[in-house]
Amino acid sequence: MLKAIVTSGATKEKIDPVRYITNNSSGKQGHAIAYALAKQGVKVTLVSGSVNIPTPDNVRLKNIESADDMLKAVEDSLPADIFISTAAVCDWKPEILHTQKMKKNSNDDYLDIRFVKTPDILKTISNHDLRPTIVVGFAAETENLIENAKIKLEKKGCDYIVANNVSNGVFGEDSNQISLISKSCVNNWDKMSKIDIATKLVDIILSNFQQS
Ligand code: C5P
Repeated sequence: MLKAIVTSGATKEKIDPVRYITNNSSGKQGHAIAYALAKQGVKVTLVSGSVNIPTPDNVRLKNIESADDMLKAVEDSLPADIFISTAAVCDWKPEILHTQKMKKNSNDDYLDIRFVKTPDILKTISNHDLRPTIVVGFAAETENLIENAKIKLEKKGCDYIVANNVSNGVFGEDSNQISLISKSCVNNWDKMSKIDIATKLVDIILSNFQQS
């Protein structure tokens, strides 16, 4: 039985006990991919930030909050045959986590927070000793979609990049228009539902495991 790890939703990076930064993500695409994999008989671990949609049947959910938590949950779930990094991971987290709520000082018009990079989960797993056979990343871009996605494929060391243009508001939508990029080709797919994207993507991924 093949085993897959899918990340979904967004991470949250705490500033103090009541404040955090996060990214925009409904989790619809990641959850649809977990659903499509499970439907094909793959054993799925879904590592997700909190979302307002149900967990697909026959999927093991690991709920996480921060990028650090997500990396740990993914590494703890290895080995796997497939890793699909759909999550909108925060690229930055506050350097200092304030243990008490930061006070609003009436004399201050500005708040300076220094951010540091979060771990790049996709890159870490792509270069891991236990690297899954197929690693898939996502690229949400607002310009030069294909060019940037090709660079991302190379930099992150993955097998496929699912590229989508987010300048026209796909967040929370049920459909999307994506391009699937591998080392050898670029395929522009028609606009379709996130469920159909997941089904088609899973078929392509699983074809890598079919014996010839
Ligand atoms: O670098 P960028 O955020 O544009 O890359 C997007 C891809 O990398 C997505 O697949 C996302 O899930 C993943 N990512 C990650 N860890 C990060 C940032 C992004 O796994 N810290």
